[in-house]
Amino acid sequence: MVMKTDSGVLTSPDSVVIVGVPCDDFSSFLKGPAKAPPLIRERLNDGSSNLFAENGVDLDGHPRLFDFGDLTLPAGEAAIRETERTVRQLASRGARILALGGDHAITYPVVSALSRYHSDLTVFHLDAHPDLYESYGGSRLSHACPFARIMETGRVKRLVQVGVRGMNDLQRSQVEKYDVTCIEMKHLHTDTPIHLDGPVYLSLDMDVLDPAFAPGVSHHEPGGMSSRDVIRLIQSIEGLIVGADIVEYNPDRDVNEMTAAVAAKFLKELAGIMLRQSV
Ligand code: MN
Ligand code: MN
Repeated sequence: MVMKTDSGVLTSPDSVVIVGVPCDDFSSFLKGPAKAPPLIRERLNDGSSNLFAENGVDLDGHPRLFDFGDLTLPAGEAAIRETERTVRQLASRGARILALGGDHAITYPVVSALSRYHSDLTVFHLDAHPDLYESYGGSRLSHACPFARIMETGRVKRLVQVGVRGMNDLQRSQVEKYDVTCIEMKHLHTDTPIHLDGPVYLSLDMDVLDPAFAPGVSHHEPGGMSSRDVIRLIQSIEGLIVGADIVEYNPDRDVNEMTAAVAAKFLKELAGIMLRQSV
């Protein structure tokens, strides 16, 4: 089991803290991702697999891995502010963050908080969608907008997107405006080296996967990655990962908890890599 902690427990400077952010107020199409964090944890700890990441790190009782539990969030915009406040608090004590969404709107407050403690942050974004809309459905906080919000803070050095297959003209102009490196799925070869200088924030939208691998997402976009493609990309990150999120798992759409299993696998691999890296 991964150890539980709470706000009263001081984190050490090299700790990795799992934080559930159960918010889907900003989903444009379907609700559901708010139910995801406890289901991902449950799957990780259900005994169906051991807790060794592929790099040999054992998460079971690891002294530097903590589970902060799920945030208790108010509705709407206040949820975004509360998420940012909590992540800032944890980051100020040196913790690296592993956030479990929730929909993709939660990435903005998490990155915004971390970017105050880590300058020159590179954001590595795996997604079927660029999520760069200025505003969507009348909301600037929509899960279709987080990377526009992040880039306008001016505190992130570089945004690298991989796996996109839902590009349109409006978002292509945003790619140019914010000088985003966007590697669309049609141009991605699994042996394409992607060099990222640290510190790195990884944002992992489950819909970057082909729906055959992860049916439990709100927006099915066929023609995506395999689970192994994603793991390979995660394992290729050379820079220090100061934060990451796994978002957009929608349990209402899942089949036999397949997507929960993939999300738990990604959580395990990410935690293993973050614990192996030295701060
Ligand atoms: Mn997304
Ligand atoms: Mn997406």
